[in-house]
Order: sequence, then C-alpha cells, then structure tokens
Amino acid sequence: MHVPYLSFSPQNQLIRPAILEKIQYFFDAEQYILGPEVSAFEKAYAAYNQTTFCVGVANGLDGLMISLQALNIGPGDEVIVPANTYIASWLAVSQVGAAPVPVEPDLATYNIDPERVEAAITPKTKAIMPVHLYGQPCNMPAIMAIADKHGLMVMEDNAQAHGATFNGKLTGSFGQVNATSFYPTKNLGALGDGGAITTNDPAVDQQARLLRNYGSGKKHYNDIIGYNSRLDELQATFLNVKLPYLNTWNRERRQIAAHYFHYLREVPEIILPYILPAAEPVYHIFVIRTSQRGALQQYLKSEGVETAIHYPVPPHLQKAYAHLGYTKGNFPITENIAATCLSLPLYPGLREPQIRYVTEKIQSFLVIKFSN
Ligand SMILES: *Cc1c(COP(=O)(O)O)cnc(C)c1O
Repeated sequence: MHVPYLSFSPQNQLIRPAILEKIQYFFDAEQYILGPEVSAFEKAYAAYNQTTFCVGVANGLDGLMISLQALNIGPGDEVIVPANTYIASWLAVSQVGAAPVPVEPDLATYNIDPERVEAAITPKTKAIMPVHLYGQPCNMPAIMAIADKHGLMVMEDNAQAHGATFNGKLTGSFGQVNATSFYPTKNLGALGDGGAITTNDPAVDQQARLLRNYGSGKKHYNDIIGYNSRLDELQATFLNVKLPYLNTWNRERRQIAAHYFHYLREVPEIILPYILPAAEPVYHIFVIRTSQRGALQQYLKSEGVETAIHYPVPPHLQKAYAHLGYTKGNFPITENIAATCLSLPLYPGLREPQIRYVTEKIQSFLVIKFSN
C-alpha cells in the first residue's frame, strides 16, 4: 500500500466543478485586483473567525509582518515568540526591525509554555506572539492574562489552526491583531499564496489596509510607506469556494487524529500529542515523537508510507539567526522536539484502512527494533 503524506485529490474532486466555473467567471468579470471576490472573502472569513475585520494579504508572512507594523512595533522593541515554531513567526519580527525573544514550549503540547513567558519579559517587550502549532490551540486565557498584567499586546499566528478553539473561542480572535496563511497545505488553503489579518480594532484594520496597498486608501494618495501585499483576486475566488468546506474538513481531520490516538495508544516508544482539556484542535499536522525517529521514518518509507518532519532545524539554530549567538543546548525542549518529531499522513480524504496500515507499520517497526 502507498500512503502519501498529503494529497489534494480528494478535496479537489469535491470542488472541481465550482472552481472551474469560478475561473471562467473571474476571467470574464475583468476585475483582477482587490475586486468583489477579495471583499466577499474578507467578510466571510471575518464572520467565520468571529472578528469584526479581516484584511486579505499576499501570504502569511506578510500578514504577520503587517500586523506587527500595524501595532507600531519596530526597531528597539522585543516580541516574545515560541522557540518551537516555523521560522516565519520569527522572520516577521525581524522584518519590522524588532527582536524575536524565544520562549521554550511545553513538551507535552509543543506550544509556547505560558509559565515561561513572564521570565522573558523586559522593559522593551511590546507583544507576545503565540503560534497554534500543528493546529493545537495555545492556552490563550493564560497568555492573555500575562499580557494584561504587563500591558503587552498579543498577536496570534493562526496559520496552522483555522477553526480551532480554546474554551469555545476561536484561535485568531484573541489577540489585538492576528495573522494567518492560506498556503495550499493549510487547513484552508488557496491554490497559491494567500493570507489574512483578523482584528476587532478599527484602527488596526485601517492601518493594515493601507500597508498592504502602497500605503494608499484612496487611489493616487499615499499616506504611509506601504507594501504591495494584496490578497490576489483569483486566490480569493478559490478561497470563497473552499471556506464553506472548512468545518467539514476539520471534522474529518479530527476523526483521522482520533484513529491515530486509538491505534497508537498502547504502542511503546511512541509519544502522542497531549491536548489541553479546554482545547479543540484542528490537526493541521499529526505529530508523534520517538527516539527512533530517523530509523522509523526510513522504515515507513520502505513500506510505502510517506512522513514529514516539522521542523528539523529550529529557528535559533538557523544560519539566518546566527547573529543572535544561540548555540545547541540553548533551547533543549525545542531541540528535543526537533530531533524526535515525526508527522504522520493526515489530510481530508485519508481512509481508515490507510490509517490502520500506517499504525500497523509503526508497530511492526518497533517489534523488529526491540526484539534484537
Ligand atoms: C505557513 C506558516 C506561516 C507563513 O505562511 P506563508 O503563507 O507561507 O507565508 C507562518 N507561520 C506558521 C506557523 C506557518 O505554518
């Protein structure tokens, strides 16, 4: 049996007629930039995410960067970021000229550990950037309480958690401003690049709208030095087709995760994700941990099962951040996750026999491994 790590085919089959029809409509409508599809998507996604405003941008990284800038964060400021995250979270902070201050995760949840956040706060700290990694919500009430206590802003990186909730409240709706990505593999993915900013603050919404479009609110008048980072009209067209499926697809992801939890629950040497009781994750990625990661990945590959690693090299050990002077051992929990994590196949349309096959192969690997 061959089990791909990810396949778009099951989703694509479902939306194929609607997408093809909308492409023709888009072509003939001749409104290719910031047209009705972007406006409609911004309305729909704000409603979905239960925020007052949504601003479509070109991609997730730009969304994070513009969000930080809309909060007036820049040179001389510090932003608390997870040590264990995709590097984009850090890059956005660097791009506005601020300094990322990494905080270790909770080894059980993989997310930033609220108990370690306070120790990282300095007089220069302006904001905390929780990242809901792998689709699992951070403990947002704890993070909001710390931010309130110290007068800090919160900006969620919701790129991996569209539709996740903590205490019933959606991720991407807690912070003063939040950003997300619609990179094709995300839970809600465009057919190319896309991103969005969500906020309840009209001033932040206004500033983000200016920043994404040359600093211009009115054609030929430029109020600030902005970017060209508009959500593409064609990508918005695709997102409008796909958004109504997001909850169904997330439910399916949860079911697949439930199967993995069930079949792997008693397998020794395999550490399963821990889900906080108040959290409802959306399983962007299903990550297990094992000290045998390299060998297990090789074995699964030889048995037709594709897996991935999120992420093999944490940001603090990347060449791009060599100037911060971190070395191996500075963030041992993060480094432990990087060395032991393995992402199993998970996408809407993955069938139960395939999931069983994956888990059986994991079991047989461990039997082989530990019987000699
Ligand atoms: C995908 C992702 C981003 C960046 O998204 P792009 O659209 O690729 O720029 C940022 N943060 C996290 C956690 C992501 O997973």
